[in-house]
Amino acid sequence: MSKKVTVASFDFTSCEGCQIELTNMGEHVFMGLLNHIEFVEFREAMSEKADAYDIALVEGSYSREIDRERLLEIRRKAKIVIAMGACATCGGINALKNHQNDWAENVYGDKASMPHLASAKALPISAVIKVDYELPGCPMNKEELVKVVNDLVHGKAPLIPDHPVCVECKARETVCRFELGDHCMGMVSRAGCGAPCPAHGIPCEGCRGFVSHPNYAALEKVLVEKAGFSRERAANKAQMFTSNYLEKLR
Ligand code: SF4
Ligand code: SF4
Ligand code: SF4
Repeated sequence: MSKKVTVASFDFTSCEGCQIELTNMGEHVFMGLLNHIEFVEFREAMSEKADAYDIALVEGSYSREIDRERLLEIRRKAKIVIAMGACATCGGINALKNHQNDWAENVYGDKASMPHLASAKALPISAVIKVDYELPGCPMNKEELVKVVNDLVHGKAPLIPDHPVCVECKARETVCRFELGDHCMGMVSRAGCGAPCPAHGIPCEGCRGFVSHPNYAALEKVLVEKAGFSRERAANKAQMFTSNYLEKLR
């Protein structure tokens, strides 16, 4: 490709942390990326709008019917759509509310009926439009984004890892959380982050979603037998980031 690849970035139900990661890449990486791509729409950083783009980066989950048409329009204008971050790829932390009928009252009390709080089930954007690539993580991994965009610029099909976090955790010789009397979801969670959480003394909570074929029954067994979880707590452990995956498994 001789001319620059045009990129647009959009947000839906999210904290916008993934887009902040984009702007927070570090001058060297970001300027290097700008040798190959040109941002044509990016609400966080510019006011221009575009009628078409090569790559649309979409952050946030789909949780309001009024967002459907905007998603469809992005799909029409983009050659490639990349779902960016846990919210967009699996519903992410927003999907916690899918299992709680009284979430609005719990959070907003007597203001829970304010019209702008109305929302439906939090879903990945793939529930509405075809997604070409998914960049998991909360937030998405910016090095992974650079690699994926770089692959696309050079005509290569990007590969998102599909092995568990445990592989990367073992490779960096971190002591397993279960050996320390703690819990962890690394055995069912998608690698690619480098297993930073166990390395920093906290469990993997599965922010990158599940691998394609997670053995959740094995995770439940270990959570009960090694970490002392009740069966109910073990069964629902994955609701933090991956409740939509969990629902599909059942
Ligand atoms: S994936 Fe995480 S960081 Fe990204 S928008 Fe959602 S909540 Fe924010
Ligand atoms: S700490 Fe977590 S990611 Fe690391 S080996 Fe143990 S279960 Fe796997
Ligand atoms: S170790 Fe788990 S929670 Fe931490 S970044 Fe990786 S996938 Fe996310």
